Amino acid sequence: MPTPLGHALAGLAAGTAASGGRTILGPYKDLALYAGMGMLADLDFIPGLILGQGSGWHRGVSHSITAAAVAGLLAWLWARQRPDGGRLALGVLAAYLSHVVLDYLNVDTRPPFGIPLLWPFSGEYMLAHHAIFPDVKRHALTWAIVKHDLMAMAWETLLLGPPAAAALIWRKAKRRWPKGRN
Ligand SMILES: [Zn+2]
Repeated sequence: MPTPLGHALAGLAAGTAASGGRTILGPYKDLALYAGMGMLADLDFIPGLILGQGSGWHRGVSHSITAAAVAGLLAWLWARQRPDGGRLALGVLAAYLSHVVLDYLNVDTRPPFGIPLLWPFSGEYMLAHHAIFPDVKRHALTWAIVKHDLMAMAWETLLLGPPAAAALIWRKAKRRWPKGRN
């Protein structure tokens, strides 16, 4: 899995793009929502921690396009009465989906390799043949592991920082010149 930083940057960029750069809930609330949606799927760590099964539940059905669709649907049900509520739901869908895509494009060193991308239509765990993001190691806090994870974060920032920054600039420009709305 990429780090939460990578997921937040990707969620922010994808959510802003899919919502058309609109400011819907507020200048910062939208961004917090998209960044949070980009990280949400990894909350599947929690049951394993509670049950003492480590990461046994991790990378389960929350890492599927169906889970992304459910997130988008719930956002639509919640926001549909608001102006641009549909755009917000699209932003949530895209931000959640960005997590699934990043994990699909990730190095995975522990079985089952990949994510159940097409659940419930297929239970197969899928992983890209050519990974773009390195794995993040969490099992021991040695200097080699800290260095590896810092390098992973630097790589994620290099790849995902520019689209996230472009999304922020675009949103700001849309607020400054609201006539550009359509
Ligand atoms: Zn994940």
